[in-house]
Amino acid sequence: MNPVTITIDGLAIPAQEGMTILQAAQANGLYIPNLCNHPDLDPAGLCRVCVVKIDDWKIAISCKQPVKEGMVVSTEDPEVQRVRKNTVELLVANHPMTCLTCERDGNCELQRVARYVGLEPTDLNRYRRSVRSLPMDRSNPFFEIDHAKCILCGICVRTCDEIQNINAIDFVKRGVASLIGTMGNKPIAESRCESCGECVVRCPTAALSPRHRVQPMREVKSICSYCGVGCGIRLGVRGDQIVGVQGDRENPVNGGSLCVKGRFGYHFINHPERLQKPLVRKDGELVEAEWDEALDLIAEKFSQHKGEQFAALASARITNEDNYLIQKFTRAVMGTNTIDHCARL
Ligand code: SF4
Ligand code: SF4
Ligand code: SF4
Repeated sequence: MNPVTITIDGLAIPAQEGMTILQAAQANGLYIPNLCNHPDLDPAGLCRVCVVKIDDWKIAISCKQPVKEGMVVSTEDPEVQRVRKNTVELLVANHPMTCLTCERDGNCELQRVARYVGLEPTDLNRYRRSVRSLPMDRSNPFFEIDHAKCILCGICVRTCDEIQNINAIDFVKRGVASLIGTMGNKPIAESRCESCGECVVRCPTAALSPRHRVQPMREVKSICSYCGVGCGIRLGVRGDQIVGVQGDRENPVNGGSLCVKGRFGYHFINHPERLQKPLVRKDGELVEAEWDEALDLIAEKFSQHKGEQFAALASARITNEDNYLIQKFTRAVMGTNTIDHCARL
């Protein structure tokens, strides 16, 4: 890609041929309001909020317009301000505006854009009728869909298609009745959705939100323990409880993506019935023991059952290195090749 220089609001910035104006702006730390754009997805040009004026005459959407050497872009031209404000007014015309009790309050792209374009309550009077009244889809055990807060940006649809290759959701119905739904507009739990939550984390509003919502007080980086892939996670912690999991975008293994288990299956960590100590069978009953006692017992039993009396079943939840050690131990110490792995069953 050849380097080019463009000017945005009087600032000369470097870019690369093939970039869009929005990408060039973002790469240089400049904000152009947008709602349907996401760095993980192909530009769609749906929301029309990212309009700019090019070379003092042409209004264009910056997420679709490629940069050209010497291009002069204005994001603050009065015509641009009028067009994008009007677009945002239409987008929020039937929005619930329950920000104070909304789980995205303070972390909502719609709020951010509305603030940036200078939306005032009085601006909405000419469009605002009533809040869109549609039943929420609470069929999924991990997240819910609030159609009233959906701005039809299509990020969820493109995430499910471009990233997950599942295509569980799409736009259904037409015109003002349009909404995000499944094939036949059935509850999402009855669709082919795999509950990965990738659409939920990219939704710019609270239209898609996790069912379990507790604000963490701090984050701890870790590795998901469910399988051998080793996805990077950020654990949301409050007190001594884990209250949420996010994918770690800085981790090269998963780049922030997670499956349903890694993203939503964390409740076992704090579960009161979780085993905290080994159990040893005594007089037919399983009773809690200390680790030394349990390990001594295992070593004693192992020494009594070497060779073909012994079999090992390794686990997908441990590291490759630990699995290697198990097979080495089974073959070299226990003297048998009878070893298998749960991921193969
Ligand atoms: S989705 Fe955003 S704008 Fe809508 S109620 Fe929630 S915080 Fe407010
Ligand atoms: S949770 Fe995953 S599979 Fe389900 S609709 Fe969203 S992206 Fe698609
Ligand atoms: S549910 Fe969220 S991501 Fe999907 S179209 Fe609506 S606002 Fe956009």
